[in-house]
Amino acid sequence: MRLLIRNCKLYVNDRIVENCFLLIETPLIADFGIDHGGHSSYDINLNARGRILLPGMIDAHVHLRDQLLSYKEDFKTGTASAVLGGVTSVIDMPNNDPPTNTPTNLLERMELAKSKILANVGFTCKPSVNHSINLELSKIGAIAFKVFLYEYMVDGFLDTSSLVKILSSLSKLDRVLMLHCNIKSKFSEVLKLARRRSMFKLCRIEKELAESILRIAQAYKARLHFCHVSCPKAIEAINKRKGFMEVSLEVTIHHLLLNYSTLELLGSIAHVDPPLKSKSTATSLFKLLKSGAVDIVVTDHAPHAIFEKEGDDPKPGFPNLQFMMPTLMTQVKKGRLSLNTVVEKTTIKPAEIFRIKKRGMIRKGYYADLVEVDFKRKLKVKSQILVSKGKYTPFEGAILVGIPVRTYVNGICVNDDYTIVGRGGEGKVIIPGDEPHEC
Ligand SMILES: [Zn+2]
Repeated sequence: MRLLIRNCKLYVNDRIVENCFLLIETPLIADFGIDHGGHSSYDINLNARGRILLPGMIDAHVHLRDQLLSYKEDFKTGTASAVLGGVTSVIDMPNNDPPTNTPTNLLERMELAKSKILANVGFTCKPSVNHSINLELSKIGAIAFKVFLYEYMVDGFLDTSSLVKILSSLSKLDRVLMLHCNIKSKFSEVLKLARRRSMFKLCRIEKELAESILRIAQAYKARLHFCHVSCPKAIEAINKRKGFMEVSLEVTIHHLLLNYSTLELLGSIAHVDPPLKSKSTATSLFKLLKSGAVDIVVTDHAPHAIFEKEGDDPKPGFPNLQFMMPTLMTQVKKGRLSLNTVVEKTTIKPAEIFRIKKRGMIRKGYYADLVEVDFKRKLKVKSQILVSKGKYTPFEGAILVGIPVRTYVNGICVNDDYTIVGRGGEGKVIIPGDEPHEC
């Protein structure tokens, strides 16, 4: 299939070029440049007047659920949320039911996803202390491994015996170890801390845990990636080790753009792990993002059924994928972030960290994972517009611009005019280092 996009503004080599065309030969980008007309051989011709064509975002922290958790989300609703949010590839977390922690479970999850996904998906696994299992998981195609450090804590301290086996194992494999570097906090405790303006206690724990695991890991060559870092001091501590070890970190859109006033306003809907912090903390995170101290931006899309968000002990997390690109592009429009920063932190860098080949840039021979963005169109966030199974959002009421009005995944249009047109199966399972086939 040859698909020609005409009259677009094209984001290429860190700048926007007016009056361009781009030719897709499914699934790859075949050609692009200034549009002088004279295109003869194509099957479909699409007009993108007034829109900017960007590389699709790569969200490196997403919980797609499905299987026994499909009442919360499934591969189809999760990846539909992604493509409406300008995201063409996601990395799925392993705390599923069944957990993604054995070769059988990983294969089962990959197989189930294949016919349902509208975006590309890389699968992470929980690592084993047994190297041969980690090796097998890598061979099957685990894109990374993830540990939840609270599972390795005894009396408030990290139990190093299992962690050193994991670090030693992953040193021999070209896979990142993702780290959830926070303790679990109950909603009632979080509210108390927020009301007393005492969130610094949680920040101290985040920083100390980061420093502990960095100390343990320095003897090993494993590549580390810190998930949803929510406090500036932890970012500083992690960045101090750069240059000595291969380490990277992410922040979420909600820690950048929201604070605990949202928690006070929306209650348990806005409960998330790690919890939202103060306005000044969010401002500092924003500054750190602009200064280059943050490697990537993610959503930590984590939907639950609405009944699980209610009661005395609501679950942390919410669905955010559908608003990834618009929340960030709204900051670009306001002049608070540069387009280059947003593109780098959501496409080029995640592709680099997770060794995702031929995605994350507009280049000939790369997969045609693309988004047509309309900066004139506005979107008012309402829970009813979510295509996720979780019909609630901490961004309720926000007016956003920079709307992904068309999304292409592997050269196939899956979102047209902010409406899902993909059926599932357009996305591919991402295997690190995987090369596109010749077409
Ligand atoms: Zn998460």
